[in-house]
Amino acid sequence: MRNVINAVCISCGAEYEAGDHTYTCPVCGGVLEINYDYDYIKSVLTKEKLAERRDPTLWRYMELLPIEEGSELSPLRVGGSPLYRAERLGKILGLRQLYIKDDGLNPTSSLKDRASAVAVVRARKAGIGVAACSSTGNAASSLAGNAAALGLASFIFVPERAPAGKLTQLLIFGATVISVKGNYEDTFKLSAAAIEKYGWYNRNAAVNPYLSEGKKTVSFEIAEQLGFRVPDYVAVSVGDGCTIAGVWKGFKDLYAVGFIDKLPRLISVQAAGCCPVNRAFETGNPLEPMEENTIADSIAVGVPRNGAKALQAIRESGGITVNVSDEEILDTMGLLGASSGVFGEPAGVTGTAGLRKAVERALIPPDALVVSLVTGNGLKDVSAARQAAAARPPIYIPADMGLLIEEFERRNIRP
Ligand SMILES: *Cc1c(COP(=O)(O)O)cnc(C)c1O
Ligand SMILES: [Zn+2]
Repeated sequence: MRNVINAVCISCGAEYEAGDHTYTCPVCGGVLEINYDYDYIKSVLTKEKLAERRDPTLWRYMELLPIEEGSELSPLRVGGSPLYRAERLGKILGLRQLYIKDDGLNPTSSLKDRASAVAVVRARKAGIGVAACSSTGNAASSLAGNAAALGLASFIFVPERAPAGKLTQLLIFGATVISVKGNYEDTFKLSAAAIEKYGWYNRNAAVNPYLSEGKKTVSFEIAEQLGFRVPDYVAVSVGDGCTIAGVWKGFKDLYAVGFIDKLPRLISVQAAGCCPVNRAFETGNPLEPMEENTIADSIAVGVPRNGAKALQAIRESGGITVNVSDEEILDTMGLLGASSGVFGEPAGVTGTAGLRKAVERALIPPDALVVSLVTGNGLKDVSAARQAAAARPPIYIPADMGLLIEEFERRNIRP
């Protein structure tokens, strides 16, 4: 990879070759970050060149990705998700320039596809035929789907609480699924032991530094879709912390190659029932484990594996933190759907819920240019969505026009 220099430990600064089994720092256990030769990249990639590319997927940013020459790329359409101008929602929230980036429209319906696509391409190139991870759901389904597309086998460890939609995706994508009695932490530990024993490719976002490299492409797209105007704020839901770190890396990369001239501030949003990253940011204390007490299963991570990277991203960006209740998450799910036609899962809309709260608290000026990332699709977890819609049940009637008119009148509905 001519564009990659090495992998650097974000905790102790030790430098390593960016290889196939480069995971956490052997010296201090810290997570690694892939370090690029931006001068070289500037010499081979320009905004104009990018604009000419027809490929809407994340592979359009090849010069900024850790992909070996001659790799077989995943044929799935990962990335290229729409950025909607959300005028109606903006009005409701009190924001004049609000955009929604709907990453629930990826092949397996979450932003995690960006990371998994990079992982399976790297695994395949390294000649590793099996990929594995532990996940609360979306990392798993995205790995299983992307692995299937490239002909890799997958072994997936999920905590027993994983919603049916996500579990079903795994089975359909042909993964071997191990449902662990216990929480995410227990699941993670078992997967780590099995990966070590069997030599599988490790897609745990927590340890594999290439994954946030895939996730950062969401920022490349946001910038391109805004004509390289940079948002003032980007709202992101946070679990392990890999996503928000990826979002930050993406903007920093663009800044380093001179495509943008400023950086956004990050809004880190967590569920109030599980907010170890935000708590560490707010108190200045080291990360401490928390219970995993929220309906937003994808961000119910009591021991965040990428907490250090996430905290660094929030701090460097001059960001803010917001915690939201399950009620606020569910309420936002309905609001987003009804005002924009975008259907997010609970963790998918948590960023938007936090944004709403931040505006209410006047932490964000009404004329700020804001992007809210919707990270996962609502159909993955229909039972949570039904709770969000509980106040608006269907009208149950026989097929009779007279009865329909009566019901409309009774309910004050003006057809
Ligand atoms: C994984 C996930 C997140 C959070 O990403 P982390 O890297 O764990 O912080 C947010 N939303 C959805 C839908 C996810 O699947
Ligand atoms: Zn280190």
